[in-house]
Amino acid sequence: MRNKRFLSFSALTAAFSLFLSGCAGSQEASVQEHTAELFAMGTYMNFTAYGEQADAALDEAVSYVEEWESLWSVTDENSEIYAANHSNGRPVPLSTETENLLRFALEMSGQTQGALDPTIYPLVSAWGFIDQEYRIPSDEEIQELLSLTGYEKVTLENHAVTLPEGMQLDLGAVGKGYTGELLADHLKEQGVTSALLDIGGNIQMVGPKPDGTKWRLGIRNPFEDGSFGTLEAQDCAVVTSGGYERYFTGEDGTTYWHILDPATGRPADSDLASVTIIGDSGVLCDALSTAIFVMGLEEGIQYWETYGGFDMLLMTLDGEIYLTEGIEENFTPEEEFSGQTIHVMEA
Ligand code: ADP
Ligand code: MG
Repeated sequence: MRNKRFLSFSALTAAFSLFLSGCAGSQEASVQEHTAELFAMGTYMNFTAYGEQADAALDEAVSYVEEWESLWSVTDENSEIYAANHSNGRPVPLSTETENLLRFALEMSGQTQGALDPTIYPLVSAWGFIDQEYRIPSDEEIQELLSLTGYEKVTLENHAVTLPEGMQLDLGAVGKGYTGELLADHLKEQGVTSALLDIGGNIQMVGPKPDGTKWRLGIRNPFEDGSFGTLEAQDCAVVTSGGYERYFTGEDGTTYWHILDPATGRPADSDLASVTIIGDSGVLCDALSTAIFVMGLEEGIQYWETYGGFDMLLMTLDGEIYLTEGIEENFTPEEEFSGQTIHVMEA
């Protein structure tokens, strides 16, 4: 927090509509709109792209998603990740996409000091987040499973991964962001200059809206339905993680969510309700939305100060909003949050 100045501004009220209002209406009559919808990687995906090239490019995009899902699924017995997770310590060859994604995830695990850890799968599974059979594992079980985690024990060489026996991978925290990034690259290669890809709430944009103005994204209110504000952005990724996305309430009345702290093997004891990362790389945004949720407010700010290269918008459990100076002009809170101090983080 050294040399940091927290500026506050009392936000003006603005009557902006909710959620992706940029999708509808404003494109010029001559620009064709094409859409595709699918359920993959455990979530609904909605793609909107404009222009003549968009139709064919979206068809290909859907095939790519299906292909990557079949590589990265933890439950599909034919996937590369499934093969790695049942390899009994033997090396498993990986496709280029899987190798790149895993290499990036392992690098980010190091850089976030293990807040992100793709080997956390045995715990994610034990808490019931894979089959929705939610349960609270005992302390002994958690300790035992923690011995089967640790990103630094993964070997990635000669286009193959080797996991010590019993260890398992889960690319769920980074796969959708990588998908968005790769699809945006694909659409651009096909000549598409305006598209919005909604990958279960992970947003990846190609260019601005067809009329040249920024997309307007509603950022989900973690406490109730609706959004807590609108973010204007273009040609980048906007990825949000929060405990509200998937959780259960135990018999003890506690809420347990799907983002775990790899240091404890339990749902991250975060003072943040949601973390939105804005940046050029979808996979980086996805990795950091999960990792900074685990880190919490203070460590998350320190991370941004140390590494930079992205913007962030944080909502604390107390309902306070923090944002980095790069997006200050682009964020407008909803009326119910507009009386509140917004903390602007400056590098
Ligand atoms: P979502 O998939 O809901 O958009 P995230 O990108 O934050 O949210 O990823 C959460 C998923 O990643 C969890 O469902 C789980 O499979 C896995 N996971 C949970 N905690 C971690 C962690 N600390 N590091 C890496 N993966 C995690
Ligand atoms: Mg993530």
